[in-house]
Amino acid sequence: MVRGKRQTAPSAKSGYFHLLAVSPREGCGACPTFLLSRNRVMPNQQLLQDLLMAPSPSGYEVPVQDIVRSFLEPLADTLDTDVHGNVIAGRNPDHTPRLMLAAHSDQIGMVISHIDDKGYLYAQTIGGWDPQQLIGQRMTVWGQQGAVPAVIARKPIHLLTDSERRQVVKLEELWLDIGASDKEQALAKVRVGDPVTLELGVRWLDNHLANAPGMDDKSGLWVVLEAFRRADPAHLKASLFAVSTVQEEVGLRGAITSTYGVAPQVGVAVDVTHATDCPTIDQRQRGDIKLGGGPVIFRGPNLNPGVVERLIALADENRIPYQLAAIGRACPNDSNSIQISRGGVATGLLAIPNRYMHSAVEMVSLDDLDAAAELLAKFALDLSPDSSFIPGSPRPDGS
Ligand SMILES: [Zn+2]
Repeated sequence: MVRGKRQTAPSAKSGYFHLLAVSPREGCGACPTFLLSRNRVMPNQQLLQDLLMAPSPSGYEVPVQDIVRSFLEPLADTLDTDVHGNVIAGRNPDHTPRLMLAAHSDQIGMVISHIDDKGYLYAQTIGGWDPQQLIGQRMTVWGQQGAVPAVIARKPIHLLTDSERRQVVKLEELWLDIGASDKEQALAKVRVGDPVTLELGVRWLDNHLANAPGMDDKSGLWVVLEAFRRADPAHLKASLFAVSTVQEEVGLRGAITSTYGVAPQVGVAVDVTHATDCPTIDQRQRGDIKLGGGPVIFRGPNLNPGVVERLIALADENRIPYQLAAIGRACPNDSNSIQISRGGVATGLLAIPNRYMHSAVEMVSLDDLDAAAELLAKFALDLSPDSSFIPGSPRPDGS
């Protein structure tokens, strides 16, 4: 990161990024109305839709980062994009302590690895997929000339042998079909290395629930951006950074480099966690986490007790609903790398309950997003130069 100096954003002029000039805001005209955000239940709900409609498999995050930059530009004192593509907005960048709010912009996807003579495409996964979730899905290949509609499939059940029916499908038994009649026709639209996502789209459901691929972690990204907006500069004593990280799904890579660049004393990652309020999940193992019950404040060795207690106290004081969860190991998200950056960072994890994670139908509650943004903004405004997060040290008020 080059702090304080605006770097040129990666070009949106060519390739599949150009496609995003056609804004998803208006819908496609043919979309059923439930795909459009007609039921507004929180501020900047359109931003969530825009984030969800921008493809961002790990390593291919430019389209969503363009949206992040446009949202942050009027709000930030500094706005930088580092060499990996992390977008970093700062407010009061010279104050102490430095607080970093982080959410990852990337989503799981695929990358084209082979095109055969008949024009069928084969792909590797980006991030953690259950191949069962992929069978029969509508997909989009983000080619150089634009979005290429595709399906991912295998042979029909009637043609499966008895032993094939009993086996769990493997990724190598699946292929993408774009309707090409041969390799040459496929190559006119698709190159090896092009990223692939599930067909993108949002459904607004009852009880303020929303359903889309990529809620992990576009919902957390919305929270970080909205918290940055809500943290009133007139009352902010600390230095605040909103970071839209890249490549979380392939090893927390953007958080490692961006945290090093920002050098915060305090960091809060916002990511999704498993809602356990649907059938077949063992709450004895996974806790009791509900959609609509509020964001989840995590406790455990990865998380600084001072950050945790402040989040809980601020939620209580401001009547913001929250849920508690525990994790006994390093968290499998950006909070892991934030905590162990440089000489150590006092780290928190605020999580959005998500049903059906890493599938085409990830489901969250907009009420949880709204509450999470409010809590994080309060947390930012509560920090001052006297704040200490060294375990065992008293708060400035002696508590
Ligand atoms: Zn995530």
